[in-house]
Parts: sequence; structure tokens; C-alpha cells
Amino acid sequence: MTAVDEIKARLDIVDVVSEHASLRKSGSNYKGLCPFHSEKTPSFIVFPATQTWHCFGACGTGGDVFSFVMKRENLDFAEALRTLAQKAGVQLEPTRQRDTERDKHLEKLFEIHAAAVAFYQGVLRSAAGQTARAYAAQRGLDEETIGKFQLGYAPDEWRALGGHLIERGYERQDLLEAGLIIAHEDGGTYDRFRGRFIIPIRDTRGQVIGFGGRILAEGQPKYLNSPQTPLFNKSHVLFGLDLAKGAIRAKGYVVIVEGYMDVLQAHQAGFGNVVASMGTALTEQHLGLLKRMTKRYILSLDPDLAGDQGTLRGLTVARQTLDREIVPVPTARGWIRYESRLDADIRIMTLPPGQDPDDLIRETPEQWIPMVEAAIPVVDYYFQVSTRDLKMTEAKGKAEAVRRLGPILSEIRDEVERTHYVQKLARLISADEGTVRRQLSVSRPRQHSRRAGEPQQPAEQPRPSTFALEEYCLAVLLRRPDFLERVHALFEGLSLPMLQEDDFERVENRTLYAVWRQMKEGHDWQAWADALPDALQAQLDLILAHGPDTEALARDEVVRDIERAVLLLRRKGLERVSQNLRILFETMERGDAAAAGYSRTMVRVTAERAAIEHALSERTSLGRREERERVL
Ligand SMILES: [Zn+2]
Repeated sequence: MTAVDEIKARLDIVDVVSEHASLRKSGSNYKGLCPFHSEKTPSFIVFPATQTWHCFGACGTGGDVFSFVMKRENLDFAEALRTLAQKAGVQLEPTRQRDTERDKHLEKLFEIHAAAVAFYQGVLRSAAGQTARAYAAQRGLDEETIGKFQLGYAPDEWRALGGHLIERGYERQDLLEAGLIIAHEDGGTYDRFRGRFIIPIRDTRGQVIGFGGRILAEGQPKYLNSPQTPLFNKSHVLFGLDLAKGAIRAKGYVVIVEGYMDVLQAHQAGFGNVVASMGTALTEQHLGLLKRMTKRYILSLDPDLAGDQGTLRGLTVARQTLDREIVPVPTARGWIRYESRLDADIRIMTLPPGQDPDDLIRETPEQWIPMVEAAIPVVDYYFQVSTRDLKMTEAKGKAEAVRRLGPILSEIRDEVERTHYVQKLARLISADEGTVRRQLSVSRPRQHSRRAGEPQQPAEQPRPSTFALEEYCLAVLLRRPDFLERVHALFEGLSLPMLQEDDFERVENRTLYAVWRQMKEGHDWQAWADALPDALQAQLDLILAHGPDTEALARDEVVRDIERAVLLLRRKGLERVSQNLRILFETMERGDAAAAGYSRTMVRVTAERAAIEHALSERTSLGRREERERVL
């Protein structure tokens, strides 16, 4: 249950409204003078059965306890949530307690990183940056990319950065802690990055937290990263994510590559939904950063490593580490557990041998999207790699295939999906399904056994069995704002009011729609999403994660679906109003002065419902005709 639902369950709307308006019982409902407009006969009704209110007078609007408080006290959603949570005695999840002392220290480290970036950028532009600029040109990086990613150069000197920062008043101890300088045995210090092309690593907010450095002369290692610091832990950071957030949300999926250069090249070519894991195995924390944006992950694996023994060994390692809190990935079981648990869709893309995304995008950018689209589900991928070296015609090979793939299949939680792969395995080893199932049940590990001390997994967000209509409409419009015009035109054509906040029943959806509509054109919608209060962000995440893939569907198809969906949405809203009106009529007292007003509203609502029904039936028959024509 979300905090909103819990609050609504605990509070009675009649009590809350009564604090602001004097209500009188009228049948099973309550009525009073509308607190939002001035009137002499009461047309403001509160419906205890549905816990809603409606003004049948000048306002012509209604809602639940949240919308009442927001409207009445002029609060935004977050404020209303706090107010009502307090009233209902519902504990909201605490916003992160800030330790000011520690924050100040981290702030200092951020500042040092920012100063270091400026220094490296300056050197790149100076005469000393000549080789680095040539390197950037050779890699095909343009000025815009260099600026956007704040690329720089660390001169091949022992104390260039350290000297510069200390001169500017920074403490040696802080520079050490930031990992930018290294202490020498003799007590002196020297720069960590020397003679390297510098790639700043930023957190999701865009603050620099570390560096990657590519050596330009001969030497090892080719890439050097900042060490682990209070700001930087490479298992928790995805390179490029600060710039990729918007594109990931817009596209509905993320592509995870291995190197900095891959990301730079992808973004430069306009593929903005690409991030890199910086040469470490992907961790669950990495994916945690993404899960707010999407549940569709495409991994680009280095083809030279993807099928090698290391990956296959991962299968065994995975078994040993299964009960650890952090599931190391990529291992088949790690991935699949993660996929099942988070309801994620993980696919693997493999590039032609000897090519990485950097080369591919630079040489043949038109091939990138087809490659991404050809990515295969992670289980299919492990079928491929784990049977590559086996002779399927021999008994030994078959037995080994079952031994390797069995544990993977047992991780698949979805029964239908598991059956699919059991059948696939049966075909692969030319056995019947029953044999494979028996074999698997022998090798199946105990499930649901949690070792003492292992933290319990947080409860999963219950996923609605069908993606609700309201959320569907929001998901499409948020992804494709250009469709709003179509929706407005549709209603205009039917002489109906535009799509509005009132069309949504759930307060989170109402509010999301309202604040989204208020956002000015051209406004950075990522910034908008980030600034939403937690409860709304959670709803936004849910909507975007489960929404339809507007990219994958044909435009006509999406338009047809959204038009139908908003019609259904409006119909639902009108049904709510007319249901309330019916209750009113049934319980109305003789000589109720507002009766004429109710009747007028009922006439309007009935007419609007008829218009909607007509439009819907036209669409259905149109759809049938199109279908028939296609068949013919
Ligand atoms: Zn009113």
C-alpha cells in the first residue's frame, strides 16, 4: 500500500472537509456551501461511500481528500502529503538525514574535483595540450563532445595538478583523500594522473566525483581510474548517466557498454541512452541507478570476452555467491535473478568480432540501432555461450548442457517462460520435456532459503495486473508530448472539454498531469522529473517503467491506442460523476433548491457520455473494417 492509499484508508473525507465547510447530512451524503466559490444554495457534495467530493455549481469539479486539501489550503502535492500524513498518523519514509559535518567535508571534495576539472580542461586548450588534442581528433571527438564531457589533459609532470591546487589553498590531506595525488615514501606527493587524456566521471546529478585517464604515450595501464574515495566507488557509478537520463526515459531502454570511448562516441552520434560500467563487472547497484528510469537493459558485451571461459566460470562462481547480498553480475544466475526480481528485461547484444561500440559507431553509425534491436534475451544468450563448446550429438555433451543450463532455468520465476526454455533445452539435447524436467528437479537448488544474517529483500512494488488506463495515458503523453495536440483535437472535434486533471482519478496521476502541463515548453523534463516529490517520482517511475514502448510501435498504432484510451478515460470520469448524481437524486429531499442544477449537470453528462460512446463505436467499426481490408 502506498502512503497515499494508507492515508486515504485512515482518514474520512467528511471529517477533513468539515474542518473547512459546514456540511449537512443529506441522505447517505453530505452537502454544504462550496468552499471554493461563493453560492447561496449548497451544491458542494461529499460522498462518504467513494470518499470523494464534487461541486455541482460553478466549479464543476471534484476529487478526493488530497485534491480537496491541495485546493483548499493552496498546497502542492508534497505539502498536502505531509499535512495529511500527519493528520492520519502515517509515517512517511524519512527524507535522508543529513549529517552536516560530513556533508561539508564531501562538499570540499566536490569542490576539489571541480577545480581539477577546470585545470585539466585548461591544459587541454593550452600549448601543453597539443598531443591530447591530436588524440581527441584521431578518435573523432568533436568540440561539442569535449565540452559536454569536460574532457581534459593531465600534463606529464609530477606535481602539476597538486602544485596548482595547493597554491589555490586546498589542503594536501584533502587532495590525497580525493585520490588526485599520491603520497611518496619520502613524505612528498605526486600527481596520480600524468600524461593522460582525462575523462571526468560524474554522478547522476552531474557533479564530478572521479576521473578516468587514458595514457597517451607508451605505458601501463592504458586506462587509470580514480581510486575508491568518499565520493567515488566504481561499482556504484555508471559513466555518462548524468547526460543519458533523459534519453533513457524517452527511449524506454538503456544500452550498457564497457568503455568511456564507447559512450563518448555514442552520445556524439546522437545515441544518448548509452552508459558505461567502466571496466568493472556490472553490479546490482549499477542497475539500481537505472531502475528508476527503465527496466529494459541492453548489454553490449565485448565479443572477445563474451563467450570465454571466464564468463562460463561465472556460472560456478555464481552458485557459491548466490546467498550473498550482492549478486555479482554478469553471471547467468545473477542476471536472471535480478531480471525476475525486478521484473526487468535484460538483453545481450554482441558486436562483430574485433569491434567495439566506439569503432562501430564511428565507422558505420547506421548499424548501431539494428545491432541494438538484434539483442537477445539473456537466457537465450546463455544457451548460446554455454553450449558453444559442447558436442550435442554426444551423450556427454548433452549431460553437460543440462548441468550448465539447469541452474539457470531454475532461476526463471515465470512459469510460462521457464517452460519455454525447458522445451528449448529438450529440443537441444533431443530429449522429451519430461526427462529434462526430472533432470532439473534433481539439480534444482533449494529455493527461498535465506541464510541467517542476510538482509531480507525489500518488498516488491506490486505490479498492477493490467496497466491501468490512467497510467497508460500518462505514460504515452509523457513520452510523446506531441500527441497531446491530437488528443485535444479529438475532444474539440466532439465538442467536449480538453483532457484535464479531472479526467484522472488517482491523485498522483492528477498531480503529475497538472504539473506536467504547467511545465513550460522547452523545459528540461529530466530536471522537472528530478524535482518532483518522492511520492510523485515513485508513481512516475512506475508509469514509465511499465508504459507501452512508444518507440517500438508504429506511430499510427500509438495514436489510435491513445485516442481510444483517452476516450475511455473520459468515459470513466463521466461515469463517476453520473453515479454521484444518481445517488443524489435518490436521496434528495423534497424541494431541494439545487435540484435544477443537478438536472442540468445530468443532461450535460449524459450528452457527453453519448458523444464518447459514439466516438468509441465508430473507432471499433473502423478498426474492424481496416482489419477486414487487411485480410482481404
Ligand atoms: Zn464550487
